[in-house]
Amino acid sequence: MSKKEIGIYIHIPFCKQKCYYCDFVSFANCENRVEEYVDALCKEIDSYNLEEYEVTSIYFGGGTPSFIDSKFIGKIMSKLKVPKNCETTIEVNPGTVDRKKLLDYKKFGFNRLSIGLQTTDNELLKTIGRIHNFEQFVQNYNLAREVGFENINVDLILALPGGSVGQVKKDLDRVLELKPEHISTYSLIVEEGTPLSKMDLEFPSEDEERKIYWTVKNVLEQNGYVHYEISNFAKPR
Ligand code: SF4
Repeated sequence: MSKKEIGIYIHIPFCKQKCYYCDFVSFANCENRVEEYVDALCKEIDSYNLEEYEVTSIYFGGGTPSFIDSKFIGKIMSKLKVPKNCETTIEVNPGTVDRKKLLDYKKFGFNRLSIGLQTTDNELLKTIGRIHNFEQFVQNYNLAREVGFENINVDLILALPGGSVGQVKKDLDRVLELKPEHISTYSLIVEEGTPLSKMDLEFPSEDEERKIYWTVKNVLEQNGYVHYEISNFAKPR
């Protein structure tokens, strides 16, 4: 009997700083809890018999998995016993990754990176509380290519404060130059209680937001990406 196929999601709920729009389960200034969390996670993994399943994908998300010491990521990966041909992704944020971490990720068996850029506009990045600028993203992206990552996703957020069709076209132009294999575009939702919801900012109207969405779809499709899911575009492999 063939084994049941499963994908595994591993949540790393630690970040260097909370972005102003974020309502994910993630905590800043909790580095002293990382070891305890990873130990608990490993215990939980031990409670499953993964041999019973065919693991076809593993995704480390967060939070910011690249924020914690890569030795912890290695410890979790050794518990998962990554099978061959498994798509294994780790989310990294610019400003929290370096050559050593990227080389470690390769060694642990990751074959895909997802990099959180959100926008190429440095002022906007500051407004939404991101810890990095566009130049750091490019440097991290190039480093990832240098160490051999051949499958990279770039995350963008649409309809940011002050966002427009012109701004998103500029983002797409700059990202397309780098030729990532995958691009995710999520529309910003201003969640109640987040710092962003209390800031006096102007957001694109619904009409403008729709135009932004169609601009993204058209530009990415013209550049050979397949719109296979509402927020996701991939180059055929
Ligand atoms: S990096 Fe991601 S998870 Fe962390 S605070 Fe920012 S949006 Fe939230």
